[in-house]
Amino acid sequence: MSMKVESPEVADIKANLAQVTEQIDQLVQQSRRPQGSVRLLAVSKTKPLSALSAAYEAGQRAFGENYVQEAVEKYHALSHLTDIEWHFIGPIQSNKSRLIAETMHWVHSIDREKIARRLSEQRIEGLPPLNVCIQVNISGEESKAGIALSDVDGMVALIKTLPNLRLRGLMAIPAPQESHAAQCAVYAPLVEAFVDLSKSDSMIDTLSIGMSGDLAAAIESGSTMVRVGTAIFGERDYSAKA
Ligand SMILES: *Cc1c(COP(=O)(O)O)cnc(C)c1O
Repeated sequence: MSMKVESPEVADIKANLAQVTEQIDQLVQQSRRPQGSVRLLAVSKTKPLSALSAAYEAGQRAFGENYVQEAVEKYHALSHLTDIEWHFIGPIQSNKSRLIAETMHWVHSIDREKIARRLSEQRIEGLPPLNVCIQVNISGEESKAGIALSDVDGMVALIKTLPNLRLRGLMAIPAPQESHAAQCAVYAPLVEAFVDLSKSDSMIDTLSIGMSGDLAAAIESGSTMVRVGTAIFGERDYSAKA
């Protein structure tokens, strides 16, 4: 057995990852859902490469990033880890869409026709289609990102015409709520829309909801992919970012 000495950071990340995975398994069981029906996306924005490597060593493969430049730098720096799955989950400016189309495996934050069209046009030949989720604004005026639930059908129809995108589902970032019940209530209309969509198209299998603060409500509501940052990597320090 190797006796490699790990830094405290690496040991913490591995322990946190094990704890979050255990928590997800328990919540899945409590919700009487099949084991393995909720994937864990490790949200590594603002965190150094060493943190991603530690999570990778512990078996984590799917990573989520919010900032295009940072995402692409990490993608190149870790290109030797060929089975990492890169998910872009942040706002997208149209002048940055090419970088995303050329590197990422998934985009969760599609909320404009123009961005969807550009990502499809800019996807490199030979790469598989880009997996995408439509970001839905379920908190009304409190959040600017995402389209209204009533506009989802139109966006679904558009994305289905784009050859290099593969529509996988819906994503949302709700405004913080005070209770578990309130968290579930905010998710309810989104869940209903997702269930309808997934019945009409077997490729639509992803409901991207749940973060460190509302895992229980999200999994109980039917999340198939939770996006967890803080509970794995610790608090983020934005002061270090330009
Ligand atoms: C930062 C972020 C997360 C992770 O949030 P935590 O509270 O740190 O778990 C998830 N989804 C999106 C879109 C984010 O920007």
